[in-house]
Amino acid sequence: MKDTFGREITYIRISLTDKCNLRCRYCMPEEGVCLKDHSEMMSEDEFVQAAEVAASLGVHKIRLTGGEPLVKKNVIDICSRISKIEGINDIGITTNGLLLPEMGKDLVKAGVTRTNISLDTLKKDKFEYISRRPAPRDLLCGVKAALDAGFKKVKVNAVLIGGVNDDEIEDLAALTLEYPIDVRFIELMPMYDSGDFGPEAYLDSDIVLKKLKLDPVEDDGTVAKRYRLEGAKGEIGLISAVSKSFCATCNRIRLTADGFLKPCLHSSQEISIKGMDKEKVREKMIECILAKPPCHPDLSFEHRSGSERNMNRIGG
Ligand code: SAM
Ligand code: SF4
Repeated sequence: MKDTFGREITYIRISLTDKCNLRCRYCMPEEGVCLKDHSEMMSEDEFVQAAEVAASLGVHKIRLTGGEPLVKKNVIDICSRISKIEGINDIGITTNGLLLPEMGKDLVKAGVTRTNISLDTLKKDKFEYISRRPAPRDLLCGVKAALDAGFKKVKVNAVLIGGVNDDEIEDLAALTLEYPIDVRFIELMPMYDSGDFGPEAYLDSDIVLKKLKLDPVEDDGTVAKRYRLEGAKGEIGLISAVSKSFCATCNRIRLTADGFLKPCLHSSQEISIKGMDKEKVREKMIECILAKPPCHPDLSFEHRSGSERNMNRIGG
């Protein structure tokens, strides 16, 4: 289905939970989530119903996210049910990767084809500073487990944080020389309560182009600008959501774990579908698609996202 600006909506991001086993400073507060009653969160059947409705409206790509989707008890069942929906041909999961060693193979069996693993640093002390939690013995455990599990595509997402990990751009990019993975550098977004970082943390992703000698790769219609290091097994991507918004080609809507459809990541507009039957959910999803704004306002340290939620409560 097209929105009012002619953009074809083919992609939904579904947040399965706002809980997480890490506490990344740019994503959620130290004290964790404000625990809602279980009955206020989407049930497995409601997630599957929402995915079915999305498919009926022309969505063919689903990304499961959170919070940390792998701490959700029934994540494998949800994946397995969603992968059987007619029209859905691409299921990805965004994860911090910590639980991939034990769950990777089951996710692949359940029909998940791609995984994006968030990893901002290759240094344990920095991992612990950013995530406010102990580092795993091997920071690459998630990447290695994902490759071993047989996902068709494995990507690493690194949020660029000025003064914290900008000295690791070369090392993170070099992962594409060693492993058949893509590494994507994501601009830090000024979300609701990600105020742990000052203005110097908000880097333009062009810094990556200044630090690395990269060959451009043809645009594939995704939000990342793509490049490659000579001789690499995978690509480098730049996701410049702050310095160069990609609203004009936005093809997605979002569903939060507590059952709100969001037309735009950076708007406070939310449409509840919790507790509704399929017909009503369809009506609300159409309303959500038609409510997509042409663009979100410019973002910066001073001009923060209009979404009144942290990223863990939206689904990044
Ligand atoms: N827990 C999973 C993970 O970390 O991959 C999935 C949820 S997390 C909210 C999804 C993505 O959002 C991660 O890649 C994370 O780095 C990114 N993210 C969270 N807060 C962000 C922010 N303020 N700016 C940019 N990216 C952010
Ligand atoms: Fe958890 Fe992912 Fe947010 Fe980090 S970015 S706190 S791993 S949800």
